[in-house]
Amino acid sequence: MNPFPYINNELYCEDVPVSRLAVEFGTPLWIYSKNFLLHQLRQIQTAFADVDPVLCYSVKANSNLSILKTMAEAGSSFDVVSGGELYRVKAAGADTTKVVFAGVGKTDDEIRFALESKILMFDVESEGELDAISAIAGEMGVVAPVALRLNPDIDAKTHSKTTTGKKGNKFGMDIERFQELAAKVLHDPNLKLTGIHMHLGSPILTTDPYAAAGRKAIDVVQGLRAAGHEINWINLGGGFGISYRQDEGLPASAYAEVIVPAVKEAGCRLALEPGRFICGNSGILVGKVVYTKQEGGKTFVIQDAAMNDLVRPAMYDSFHRIWPVKPSVAMPENLEGEISGCDKVDIVGPVCESGDTFAKDRYFPEVQRGDLVAIFSAGAYGTAMSSNYNSRPRGCEVLVDGGKVTVIRRRESYADLIRHELLD
Ligand SMILES: *Cc1c(COP(=O)(O)O)cnc(C)c1O
Repeated sequence: MNPFPYINNELYCEDVPVSRLAVEFGTPLWIYSKNFLLHQLRQIQTAFADVDPVLCYSVKANSNLSILKTMAEAGSSFDVVSGGELYRVKAAGADTTKVVFAGVGKTDDEIRFALESKILMFDVESEGELDAISAIAGEMGVVAPVALRLNPDIDAKTHSKTTTGKKGNKFGMDIERFQELAAKVLHDPNLKLTGIHMHLGSPILTTDPYAAAGRKAIDVVQGLRAAGHEINWINLGGGFGISYRQDEGLPASAYAEVIVPAVKEAGCRLALEPGRFICGNSGILVGKVVYTKQEGGKTFVIQDAAMNDLVRPAMYDSFHRIWPVKPSVAMPENLEGEISGCDKVDIVGPVCESGDTFAKDRYFPEVQRGDLVAIFSAGAYGTAMSSNYNSRPRGCEVLVDGGKVTVIRRRESYADLIRHELLD
């Protein structure tokens, strides 16, 4: 399914012309395809159906309430990394009893909130956290379900800012500490060890790291059972990659092929925390060309979406396909080389930082002031990481379902920018 097809040389989201939405709602504009969100979730549900997994959509990838509601209605649960995310899950009307809570710095308030919400389990990342959860559960008179987060020392070959399962980063614990803490839980009436958690990093475009994690999980689960734990869950986190460039993303079935047999062998239930895989290619960011400019031997296309909207290129050097909404040259599969009929340009935003650059030396069709450009694969870690830097109000978000369009976040106003500030 292609949620953003070009039809008669014009970009659509499902059945709706993108230009119509830009006229109605202005730019920068986030457009999501509801049916692609559901398609991606179903792809994972189907691929892993054999082990009846609990799929916990990773809220941090895109935390818009309507997206959470869409996920909940389609049978997804949630992975949260803060009290705020748990609050959102509740506000979306979702059940919290299948929520998993990860993150290295859970505060006492967040732990209490999660226990009150009767979540499925905490992914515990340190001894200090384990002690805090035990103390708070004790005060509340409840038993806290915990999984320990293992740092499996697997190199998932992602960007240095998004690798999480390698020795030396802040996530999880090594196997020695894991065993120590498991032993500690055994004698703690406030805690119950229910599983093992690993999240290897993101985005991961091969299955090898998951195969290695699966093998490790089998060993660890067997060891824990021998030590007297009743282990029910293997949680392999998220990280499934997507196609940002062409079609480098794997289908969910490829990951399932290596994960499902391991989960079966361990005799456990599977939890997964996919974020990007579900929402990444479900969304685009549409900007409008403000100026084009020739300077220093280069051509700049300055459009009104910026790094405060989508920070991934500035933060991770990430590649996004970008193409006009009504192009003079049809979009080729490969946007990374020379393209006939196109000139080399830098596509930038208005923010006062050189890092506010979406593409450097990219072949791009000629555009004029007022033309619309689409930045693809913007549905994950787009709005979720956006800010008001340069006092830029955040854009509008719309959800498209066939021919139906729903505004799921209003455009911010100037008044919104200063809403919480006080004049001394
Ligand atoms: C960020 C994160 C995820 C989601 O990663 P994706 O690449 O978006 O699938 C899952 N689990 C944990 C613990 C995370 O921190």
